[in-house]
Amino acid sequence: MSSYLRIRWAITPKIAPRPFINCNRCGTKPYQCSGKFRVNANGKRIDAWLVYRCIDCDNSWNFGILERCNRRDIEPALLQALESNDAALARQHAFDVVALRGQVGRIEEFPDVAVHKQRLGDGPKAATALELRLTLETMTSLRLDRLLAGELDISRSRLQALEERRLLTVDSDGAKALRKPVRTGTVVRIDLSSEPDRQAIMTAAGR
Ligand SMILES: [Zn+2]
Repeated sequence: MSSYLRIRWAITPKIAPRPFINCNRCGTKPYQCSGKFRVNANGKRIDAWLVYRCIDCDNSWNFGILERCNRRDIEPALLQALESNDAALARQHAFDVVALRGQVGRIEEFPDVAVHKQRLGDGPKAATALELRLTLETMTSLRLDRLLAGELDISRSRLQALEERRLLTVDSDGAKALRKPVRTGTVVRIDLSSEPDRQAIMTAAGR
């Protein structure tokens, strides 16, 4: 039986995806989120967009957030957040790759993340296994094996080998979770009892 060191990794993607837009001044270019909303209230109907800018000429493109919505159906707090360019709301939409993909053909995604690590409980001194609980602030394209390899400072092939020996397990929906983008709520357990560099991996996991 393994004794677990439990650690929560709170993962924050750093760079918002950039849609490729056909700029009428400089051809197809990546556009960058400006962090600003444009809200158009036409009588009772409200439209809202998140504004993107061409990285070269500053031309704008609008990412549709609300379309012809009845004012009655919109939470006053949401309208207030849109009108005041609430940074958290802008981030939430800027990282919504699924919605963005619904409006744009091609998107550039960035795997860069910041990971805040917090030990859960004291954990046994002689822990021989790791339990990592992953939470994501917004979606990311970063693959789980790349995240683990980078943060634990071990190779992806070694992670693969650990998984094949069933020493590494992932609680997540579906198979091949290691090769898929990190999902929030994922729990990774790694039995390190037979790994000679166990201590270094444990330290990296919590650092
Ligand atoms: Zn341009």
